[in-house]
Order: sequence, then structure tokens, then C-alpha cells
Amino acid sequence: FNTAPAPWEVDDLVSHVVAKIVFSTGPQQPFDYLVPENLAPVAVAGRRMRVPFGRGDRLVQGYCVEVGAKQVLPNKLKSIHEVVDDVTLLSRTMLGLTRWMAEYYLCPWGQVLEAVVPAAVRGNAGTREVTLLTVPRETAMQLATLKLPPKQHAALTILAAAGKAFTPPELAQAAGCTLAPIMALRKKKLVHVEVRRVSFAHFDDTPAEAEPSKQLNEDQAAALKTILHAVDEERHQTVLLHGVTGSGKTEVYLQAIDRVVAAGKQAIVLVPEISLTPQTKQRFRARFSQIALLHSHMNDVERHWQWKRIASGHIPVVVGARSAIFAPTPRLGMIILDEEHDSSFKQDSSPRYHARDVAAWRAESENAPLILGSATPSLESWRQTQTGAITLVSMPRRVNNYPLPDVKTVDLRVDRKSIGRGAISRPLYQAMRRTIEEDGQMILLLNRRGYATHIQCPACGEKVVCPECEIALTHHLADNMAICHYCDYRQAAPKSCPSCGFTGIHFFGYGTQKLEAEVKARFPGVECLRMDSDTMKKPGSHEAALERFRCGDAKILVGTQMIAKGLDFPNVTLVGVINADTALHFPDVRAGERTFQLITQVAGRTGRGHKGGQVLVQTLSPDHPAIEAAARHDYTLFAGRELPFREKFLFSPFAKMVRLVARGETAAAPEAFLDEFAKQLQKVAIQLELELHLQGPAAAPIEKLRGQYRFHLLLKSLDGEKLRKAVQMVAVKTKSPDEVIWTIDVDPVDM
Ligand code: ADP
Ligand code: ZN
Repeated sequence: FNTAPAPWEVDDLVSHVVAKIVFSTGPQQPFDYLVPENLAPVAVAGRRMRVPFGRGDRLVQGYCVEVGAKQVLPNKLKSIHEVVDDVTLLSRTMLGLTRWMAEYYLCPWGQVLEAVVPAAVRGNAGTREVTLLTVPRETAMQLATLKLPPKQHAALTILAAAGKAFTPPELAQAAGCTLAPIMALRKKKLVHVEVRRVSFAHFDDTPAEAEPSKQLNEDQAAALKTILHAVDEERHQTVLLHGVTGSGKTEVYLQAIDRVVAAGKQAIVLVPEISLTPQTKQRFRARFSQIALLHSHMNDVERHWQWKRIASGHIPVVVGARSAIFAPTPRLGMIILDEEHDSSFKQDSSPRYHARDVAAWRAESENAPLILGSATPSLESWRQTQTGAITLVSMPRRVNNYPLPDVKTVDLRVDRKSIGRGAISRPLYQAMRRTIEEDGQMILLLNRRGYATHIQCPACGEKVVCPECEIALTHHLADNMAICHYCDYRQAAPKSCPSCGFTGIHFFGYGTQKLEAEVKARFPGVECLRMDSDTMKKPGSHEAALERFRCGDAKILVGTQMIAKGLDFPNVTLVGVINADTALHFPDVRAGERTFQLITQVAGRTGRGHKGGQVLVQTLSPDHPAIEAAARHDYTLFAGRELPFREKFLFSPFAKMVRLVARGETAAAPEAFLDEFAKQLQKVAIQLELELHLQGPAAAPIEKLRGQYRFHLLLKSLDGEKLRKAVQMVAVKTKSPDEVIWTIDVDPVDM
């Protein structure tokens, strides 16, 4: 599809309005179409249009990304058939953002556009088309002299006198006639007809009880001053608010947003999905009467309605998870990412974007400050405070002079005997008993759901694994099932060894269900709650559980990492980490960082009131740098040890990384595919003078998933731009065999 004129055609060029159309599937490059004169007023960039495409001129829908005058050979271009949207879905900035995302994340532009505009908006959820009738001025002036049947005349007179639009049924009712006379008026073109899309959705937004701002302490005031400086200057700047757990970061955000709202602008606040609790909602609603809270349980009608309210500029504060970064705020004044280190900000399907990087692009192009907040910043952001790209403000103390909780490790190598058969060591048991006696509450973290974590035959050694993934099945007590945590394959838990028939097959390892059972057995009469993705499937169950804990009826909360973040319960005086090592031994460069974050975050759930708090961390490796630093609440110690390692072995944040994953029914095909890709890359690297480091291809950490073999190839370079270019050059030339499916992940978070 070549629209460039040949040299002999140049004289035939004329200037014409042309729309550039991007399709969400099929060809990846944009196509030019002529804008016919009658469509010119509505053919705006950022709307979808229906255009003829391919042989047979089938009508297909695409996004118009640009409209402008162009020198073209008109007979070479087809014309737009129809403009689909009557509102603009993407502003110029948002179009620019999608284009950048496509280039940066090496994925099709059309796919990014579909990700940025919610399906509920594309589908016009909660709206319907209405026909509105009015009387044109010329008709109104001739009204007295018009020769019409009496009913038509009466209807026309009523409509002209009303001074507003009526739908046909409304007019029929007002005139006391059937629809027939109205139809006749339409046919005679005596009334003006307009078809408009109107929303029938409305959601009540009862304001929360208003709450005044808190008097900031010295650290908070200093942090706010730095942020407000960026707000007032209306220029882009990124501030990292490094505040320990309980230092009052949210209060600083709220007061910063105050200033943005006072200036008539809008703020976007991103939080991890799991933090979108009623508590969070309450905190924002109590300060700002108009907020949009975007969460995954919203239905399409509500999502569309919220989108419209944001786009109209009426909503000053938008709070949501990752995809809220695409909120269509017309006057963006600030973006805040709370818990900016959280891995849920990275999308794990295409487009594989990171909300922090998208936020940085958006904030810069809209001249707005970006505020990143965390007790355990990502090393990517931390590194940028060292190079000066990000301004650092610290809040090293908790509010009200509450001390950080005392963290002790329980060395399971020494304490093995005291554990006996259970998961709770003697020191932890004693601390739990004391907590109950003193009427405190406690949180126990175990990052494995299910009952037993693997099933094995002591006679022949056979392990029960998923037939699709070859990963140990987890025993779940409900229904007595053995379940694969990667693909959800389920079978009845075996009563005997499937291989040798031995009846003493054993269930090993601890999941949250077994821990809950142990707690209940050892503390009879004490209410214990469990929170993991198994108990939280029903919408609202999360909130209900937290409410039982908040009101004090439940004393013990057992859960996976979903309980580690954000909870603010002053009566929690003990946190127990059952096994700090679960995340430590993953073959992933971020294993230490994740462990540090998890322990620090969960430790932060205690000592938030005047009763103080303590943390017991059970581990087989108390000397591991990540665990030791977390026990000391010392982020700079952790970062100071981890960064030199990342630098030496060329990992993020020093090197830019791209990860390729290929999968297929056999192991040979994806491996061969990546081998060839690597060879081609090395050739291109020489051509581009790119210093390229390859790791692999090798079997991926999850070698087999849903019956498919997986391989990966990690690419690293100090020059991210050239690296992406090289991958792009090879990717466009690569035709993968049918049996191989492969993906590109720029800035991978999980390895
Ligand atoms: P972080 O997000 O840093 O962990 P929070 O924002 O949750 O901390 O604040 C911890 C608690 O301290 C909250 O209950 C909050 O209402 C309270 N708080 C925050 N700032 C102040 C202040 N200046 N004075 C008194 N209490 C405060
Ligand atoms: Zn499986």
C-alpha cells in the first residue's frame, strides 16, 4: 500500500485533508484516507472511523491518529466512510503517549490504543441513541400560514413554542396524538432531526463525612514543601518520597493534591490494586468531595460513566490501579504513585508497560510533577536520585514519635527442634500467647496458599505434579483437591501413591490453610481469619474480613502477601513471618529486593499505635543481606549492597534489559527459535555498534506451563535505545515457525 507519488505524477498532486488510520488488528502501519467534505467537521484525531479496506473494500474500524492537509494523488486514496465516535477518545497528548508506548515497548500501536481506551468506553456502555426534534427558524416564522392537517399543525406549534427538543414519543404525548403525524412532519422536513447519544447511567456519590487536614509534623512539612515547589512552578519534576512505614505519606499526598485542586487542575493517584480498599477510598473521599475511584469490580456502565466524568474535567481526583494512568484528565496537575516499587504496576500481557514509566512520560509531556512514594523504593528510582534525575525527600520517622517495631530473626536451623511438626516456632508461639494475654492483635504472613505445598510418596519418592506444568501440586483442604497454582489444573488428592500404590503418601510443606489449622488448634477459642486469593474470590469478602479484624473480634490474621501492604491497625502489636526464605531462592535477580520489600512492608503493619509492636522473622538464612537489612529497617544499607552487584553483573537499573520468551509443544522448537534470534541479534549489534550482552537462551524458571515448553533469552546493554532498535530490526524480519509463540518484554520485572 504505497501512497508516495512517482516522479511523473508530481504535477497531479493536490492538497487534501487526509486522516491517518491505525487498526487494532491486522497490519501494523498506519494508512492514509481522504476526509470527504461532509465529514470534515467530525473527522478529528482521537476518534474511531470506519474505512474501506483491502480487496472488496470491506468496511473496518480503526483509530484516527492524525488529521491534516497533505499533498496527495486523490485517486490513489480511498475515503473515510463514517466517523464512529461523537466524542474524542484520545487527546493529542494521549495519542502521543500511545505512540511512544508502541515504540518503547515494541508492540503494535493499535494494540496500545485498545489498551488505553477502556472497552466500556469503546462499547458506549450505559448509553443509548435518542432522536431529538426541533423546529427550524424558517419553519417557525411561517407557522401561521402553513397548510397542514390539524394534528400535524398542533404538534408543530407545540414544538415551536417549547423552545427545547422533544423525542418523537414526547412530542406525541404533548400534542395528544399518535406517532403518525410526527412521522409526517419528519417526512416533510418541517422539523429538524438530530440523533444524539445520551447516558442513562447515574451513580450516587454520597459524600463521606468531611475530615480536616492534619497538622503536619516537621518531616511531612518539609516533604510537602518540596512537592509544592514543583506544583507551583508548573514544570515537570519527579520527587521520590522515601518514608518509612507509618511516616504519614498519605497525608502529604492529600495536602499536595489540595494545592493542585485549588489551582483548578486534576490529580491522578495510582495505588496497587490490593490497596484499593474502602479505607483508601474513605481517606480520599473525606477530603475531596469529587473523586473517581477506578477498580476492577466496576461494571462497564459505571466505568464508562466515570471515564466521561473525568474527561469532562469535573472530577479533580482520580484514584486507581495501574490502568488509571490512562485516565483522560484534560487538565493534569499531578501524578502520584504510592508504593511505587510494587510489581503490580507492570502489566504482564501485551502491551507490557510499567505504569511508573508511562506516568513519567505523561507527567513530562503535560508539565506536571510526578510523586513516587515508598518505604522500599525500587532500585530503578533510587538510582535516579543518585544521578540527580529525581529529587529525594525522606521521612525517616513514624508519626507521633512512634518507634519502628523491633525486628528479631528466629534462626530455624537452631530452633528446628522447637518447631516439632508445626510452622510456629517456640519464640513465635510465646510471643503470640503474650499478645493474646495483653489483648493485642497479630498478623502472620505466609506467602503460600493452600494446605500442603507438595505431595510425595515416602516409599518410592514419586512427587505428584501437574501433567501440564510439571510443577508440584498443592493440596487444598476444601474438597480435598490437588491443584496446580500455575494453570489451575485440579484432581482429587491421591489416597495412595499413583506410581507404586503405597498408601502412606505424604503431604509436606505449609500453606496458609495448614497454618490457619495449626493456629486454631493451638489457640482454641481465639478468632483467626485467613486472607489469600482463595478466601477472597467473592467481591466484598476482602472488606468484610478486614472489618472483622478492625473491630477487634478477630485477633489473628493469617495471609499471603495481600496482607503485607497498607493496612493501618493501631492494635496490631505482633507480626510473624513464617518463612522469610520463600521468595529468596527464586532464580531472579530481584529475589533479594522482593524479600527485603516484603519483610519491611509486613513489619510496617505493627507498632502503629501507642502500644508499640514487635516482629519475629523465621528464616534459615538470618545472615542473608536482604533479611538482615530488613530487620534493621535500613533501606540504604540494602541499596548500598545491592546496587554494586547490579552494576557489576549488568542488571537494571544500570543496564537496560529486554526479555524474549518463546513457547511451544516441544522443547526443541522454541529453543531453536531463540537460538536463531540470538544469532541475528549479534549480527545486527555489530552493524549498530551496540554492546550487547546475552544470557541464554535457557529454559525459563517455569519450564513448562499449560503443556507448553518455555525458553527465554535475556538481552542487556547500557544503551537501551540501540538495544530496542536491534530487537525491532530482528523482530520485523523474523518469521516464527507456526508452532512457536513468542513475546518481547522491555524492562522485564519477573524473570
Ligand atoms: P504511610 O503511608 O507512610 O505508611 P500513613 O499515611 O498510613 O503512613 O499514616 C499512618 C497513620 O498516621 C495514619 O493513621 C494517619 O492518619 C496518621 N497521621 C498521618 N499524619 C499525621 C500527623 N501529622 N499527625 C497525626 N497523625 C498522622
Ligand atoms: Zn499446571
